[in-house]
Amino acid sequence: MPRAVVTGGAGFLGSHLCDRLISDGYDVVVLDNLITGSTDNIVHLMGNPHFRFIKYDVTEYLFVDGKVDVIFHLASPASPIDFPTRPIQILKVNALGTHKALGLARSKSARFFLASTSEVYGDPLMHPQVEEYWGNVNPVGVRGVYDESKRFAESITMAYHRTHGVDTKIVRIFNTYGPRMRLDDGRVVPNFIGQALRNEPITVYGNGSQTRSFCYCSDLIDGFIRLANSNEAGPINIGNPTERTIMEFAQEIKRLTGSSSEIVMVPLPTADDPKQRRPDITKARTLLNWEPKVSLEDGLLKTIAYFQEAVKKAGNGSRSH
Ligand code: UDP
Repeated sequence: MPRAVVTGGAGFLGSHLCDRLISDGYDVVVLDNLITGSTDNIVHLMGNPHFRFIKYDVTEYLFVDGKVDVIFHLASPASPIDFPTRPIQILKVNALGTHKALGLARSKSARFFLASTSEVYGDPLMHPQVEEYWGNVNPVGVRGVYDESKRFAESITMAYHRTHGVDTKIVRIFNTYGPRMRLDDGRVVPNFIGQALRNEPITVYGNGSQTRSFCYCSDLIDGFIRLANSNEAGPINIGNPTERTIMEFAQEIKRLTGSSSEIVMVPLPTADDPKQRRPDITKARTLLNWEPKVSLEDGLLKTIAYFQEAVKKAGNGSRSH
């Protein structure tokens, strides 16, 4: 039975990856310190003999007994609201944590899979973004802690690949959404859906002309698995190339929830908000035979159903994620 270690496995994407690995016949070990993850996301796997959760800070030395075939390194706060509130933890997990996870991969002769990000492109001057684009990042801006540490994570991953021959893969994740996002995560999908379900104003930052492209979580995880099982090292963009303005997105969420919320424009809370973002997925299409399948409407309806429960729970004074 193949054995996988997933750092950040109690998070939004990490927990969906665990579900997929378990159903593909893997033994899964999760390392997560639960800063932004939650055991609520993996509670359904807890009794499974092929699943183990270890509460652990992956910036510390990593020890996992027995064989390991593949390490998926997903641990990192990833929401823009985390950038000003957890800057040092973000820098540490992407720098020190990636180093430790690579060390574990090397000692186990395991494959190493890095969850990188479209944020390595910063506020891009090239559109759509291809993997060869080097990006436009402000190193001393508020977003820099995430962008630069993910760039470092890519560099050290390539150094282990070139110097120690570790079999590495780098995926650059574009905006992704779905059930298990935190209701209070601050990102646009939970914010807009939460606001719409409570019939509160939907807060469009700036004038809403900035664009994003949203990928449903199951499509993204399918891309991960295809890359992990391929002979490609990447980096490879995985995301949905259908681009919308944030204003259009707010209108779509209002329509799908049947909400009476008004859409309001409020000042941008952080500087350096990328004005446009859309992946060029030619590489994923040609090298991995991957492309997203879930429409925005289908994905949003599933996500809205999840947030309906989360909003109810939060209203009852229990956890919001
Ligand atoms: N945004 C917004 N209202 C919100 C939250 C976010 O208009 O309540 C905008 C934000 O300014 C950005 C886009 O939505 O342009 C996506 O933001 P998110 O925080 O989801 O992630 P990002 O793509 O910036 O990393």
